Amino acid sequence: MLDTLSSAVLSRTPAIDLHDLVSELFPLNRSLTGDGVRQTLAIVGRHVDLAIHEVPSGTPVLDWHIPAEWTIRSASISSMSGQRLVDFADNNLHVMGYSKPVQAVLSRAELSKHVHTLTDQPDLIPYRTGYYADDWGFCLTDRLWRQMTEDVYRVEIDSELSQGALTYGEVFVPGQTQQEVLITCHVCHPSLANDNLSGIVVMTALAMRQARRTSRLGYRFLFLPATIGALAWLDRNEPNLDRIQHGLVLTCLGDSSAFHYKQSRKGATVDCAVAHVLKHGGYPHEILPFSPYGYDERQFCSPGFDLPVGCLMRGVHGTFPEYHTSADNLDFVKPEYLDQSYAVIAEVLDLLDRDAVYVRIDGRGEPQLGRRGLYRAIAGQREAGGATQMDLLWLLNLADGEHSLLDMAIRADVPFARLEAAARLALEAGLIKPSVLP
Ligand code: ZN
Repeated sequence: MLDTLSSAVLSRTPAIDLHDLVSELFPLNRSLTGDGVRQTLAIVGRHVDLAIHEVPSGTPVLDWHIPAEWTIRSASISSMSGQRLVDFADNNLHVMGYSKPVQAVLSRAELSKHVHTLTDQPDLIPYRTGYYADDWGFCLTDRLWRQMTEDVYRVEIDSELSQGALTYGEVFVPGQTQQEVLITCHVCHPSLANDNLSGIVVMTALAMRQARRTSRLGYRFLFLPATIGALAWLDRNEPNLDRIQHGLVLTCLGDSSAFHYKQSRKGATVDCAVAHVLKHGGYPHEILPFSPYGYDERQFCSPGFDLPVGCLMRGVHGTFPEYHTSADNLDFVKPEYLDQSYAVIAEVLDLLDRDAVYVRIDGRGEPQLGRRGLYRAIAGQREAGGATQMDLLWLLNLADGEHSLLDMAIRADVPFARLEAAARLALEAGLIKPSVLP
């Protein structure tokens, strides 16, 4: 029993230092497309068996087209005396994503149409993109912008929008069945630590974990540029989507906020599993209903697909002050929160993999437990694995082929492991047999 417990705890500790991996990935200039994404996936690929997919610019995917690939080499705003005031080399947030090239001398008034600041947070650089805007822009602190009082400035963006590709990564760990769990994160944000990088590193460690285990379910991990990456994957994998039994989008998992879980559109086992693990693990959390805004769950849960996919996060996008600013940095994400997020998801995956359905061999009335030594087993606790008499009674009552162990644990309001232990006892006593949900 103790050995089982300690190995469970060990298996919920990541095999790599998650914060170190965030730090390694942080400087790269990711966007919807381009070498920042490729470099990110190359680093992830040192830890897992990652397939890299390149989808050419212009390829139609569902109602969209893969955009041009964006490359940026340098960008700056300088005074006419040659002083560099804003430099992409200092912080990649300084340039709006997908900015087209520009080389000009502009009045401050003209430049102001291309400058983004945060008046409420004057010392932070905002993160802005203009993927489909055919525009250019700079992001800087409001404090600096107020100090820039000269009449004219020289601006330079050495960038390129060209026929290239959209890049995404995929790890598939096969299971003993054809059924799959889909787990995804975004890879399109530049130097932001919680939004994107926390999801990337937790997912990398989970893929490493699952690759070392034998599981009933297969696990498919997707590293996707937001929206268009998910659409491209859905478009290319439509014939196999019925294999997906459970799904999770992972984001913002390194901050100190309580957990937030956004339910799938249609209601699914994964919704129950995450809520169960958070509740019985004693983690402060909030369950949010589905809404058609947020991360890629809105693509996976769109009406033509309606997959059983929810979204797990700690801080919710748009609600914490560091969100989409230069304050979402390496200090904002903490090793202990990354590790805790990993542990929670590992437990959810274990639960989904071990969930099972049983049916009573003779379902008429309550079986006589004493005659089978079951009261003694429960009193002994050791062999019972923590199951109580009530757990056993719940199991024997709900083992009708229509309730899974998770259903029973929720109904009994006890941890899943106790119903699992009760099932072991009942199996050994010849009272139940495995079944499948109708
Ligand atoms: Zn974001």
